[in-house]
Amino acid sequence: MSFKEIYLEIMTKNFPDGRYNEFADKFEILYNELVSYNEKVNLTAVTDMAGACAKHFADSLLIEEYIPQGSTLCDVGCGGGFPTLPLAIVRSDLEITALDSTEKKLKFVSLMAEKLNLNVVTLAARAEEVGQKAEYRESFDCVCARAVARLNILSELCIPLTRAGGKFISCKAALAKEELNEALSGIEKLGGTLEMAKDTELMTEGGEQSRAVFVFSKNSPTPAQYPRHYSKISKKPL
Ligand code: SAM
Repeated sequence: MSFKEIYLEIMTKNFPDGRYNEFADKFEILYNELVSYNEKVNLTAVTDMAGACAKHFADSLLIEEYIPQGSTLCDVGCGGGFPTLPLAIVRSDLEITALDSTEKKLKFVSLMAEKLNLNVVTLAARAEEVGQKAEYRESFDCVCARAVARLNILSELCIPLTRAGGKFISCKAALAKEELNEALSGIEKLGGTLEMAKDTELMTEGGEQSRAVFVFSKNSPTPAQYPRHYSKISKKPL
């Protein structure tokens, strides 16, 4: 089967209204570049077409509907560009800052942004340090992260970057009720509130996988002491 056939099959299983079908050509370019760059720099263990279409492309798009039109979005710990690159391909209205502490992964994100003419800038830095800089602190309409840390740690990396009235959106691999419960009081200290928690399924070639999407709204400013140094965040999560 060709890339396009596999892409359309996986996308239609996940999004039956066909909303992402028109982007097949761009995702094919992304797929080919990902596989070739992955030979030099380890970005992912998933390199087969069906796996990449489901676990990288469709999975990244599970949060797309929760991001308001025209938002500035910071993807914390974007690695090789997930969810940044799929979101940028389907949403040219978004202004995306792809943040990661590993510069060589960000090079791939910049390369793809240039090749596919995407509205993405990269930022090589630690999220907790950026969250204390006036230029970035409480400046983004939305902040998202995939596969970076447990929610009680992740929220201290992400909520300080979210502007008051904005959203922090997290997609987790399993039914993460326990993870949510242990994070909720810390999220409140950071100025956030749970707006929505949705259990969903990611359709892959090998069957369904559970996902949980959490949307938090930022209601009040984050107290100045947060985010703390990473050693404190990880040793004593809020
Ligand atoms: N989000 C990508 C994905 O889903 O494919 C990458 C996930 S990878 C498992 C986690 C990434 O988070 C790594 O690239 C790592 O460098 C980055 N990361 C972890 N902690 C970070 C921090 N405090 N600030 C910035 N980046 C961080």
